[in-house]
Amino acid sequence: MGSVGAKEVPELLSPEGLRIDGRRLDELRPLKITAGALHQAEGSAFVEWGANKVMAAVYGPREVHPRHLQQNNKAIIQCRYNMAAFSVDERKRPGLDRRSQEISKVISEAFESVIFVEEFPRTSIDVYIEVLQANAGTRCAGVVAASVALADAGIPMADLVPSVAAGKISGHIALDLKKEEDNFGEADLPMALVPQSGRLVLLQMEGHMTRAELTEALDMGIKGCHQIYGKMKDALRARYQVTEAPPTEVTA
Ligand code: ADP
Repeated sequence: MGSVGAKEVPELLSPEGLRIDGRRLDELRPLKITAGALHQAEGSAFVEWGANKVMAAVYGPREVHPRHLQQNNKAIIQCRYNMAAFSVDERKRPGLDRRSQEISKVISEAFESVIFVEEFPRTSIDVYIEVLQANAGTRCAGVVAASVALADAGIPMADLVPSVAAGKISGHIALDLKKEEDNFGEADLPMALVPQSGRLVLLQMEGHMTRAELTEALDMGIKGCHQIYGKMKDALRARYQVTEAPPTEVTA
């Protein structure tokens, strides 16, 4: 692409159609999910996804704080997404900024429609999402981590909630943008899916896409979500796998 105006834009796609890290357009970054990474929390998960590192911890159902948020007929879901001050190269002001508040809200709303909240009236289910290292797609990594942590905590839910962003780079729809692609690409479309019903519980868009591109991006993102869903289930299976007891030594 060369340069646009005064801003140097790196080549995001090679002539062979490969991305800066060698991925194809529809390829995810490497994803590793560890369920039950923390002992303190009632449920937890650690997600390493490309250069993102995200920890989620779940507490509850428990007493609601602040009390006035309590709902008589259901549990409330309080997700708190936070990026550690050391999670990015550029200086990030520590604490809850507007972006973190927005992400916390959309993630809370995504889980409200999946968790069986009516089973736990007058309680709060608290989900802490800490981004330790950020490289674009952290809200999706946060949803994946939170979802596995909720399952690890034994919170009844309709399904796990895989999440990924599709986007547009150099005029092409691409899956799971990394930082440079997010910065210099044309659009970003994070989504979260309930695989068993096909319902999207989170959908945001930054940038511009045509209607046809949007359809293509949704299709690519949903396929990506199904791949991630498999890895989430594997992580939970690995956590609860019964390890065979070592053979007892018998001495004559
Ligand atoms: P997401 O991480 O969900 O893609 P954004 O599109 O808002 O969310 O951010 C893209 C990336 O930009 C982040 O993953 C992070 O690497 C970087 N970033 C976001 N906010 C800040 C900030 N306040 N300071 C420095 N880098 C940031």
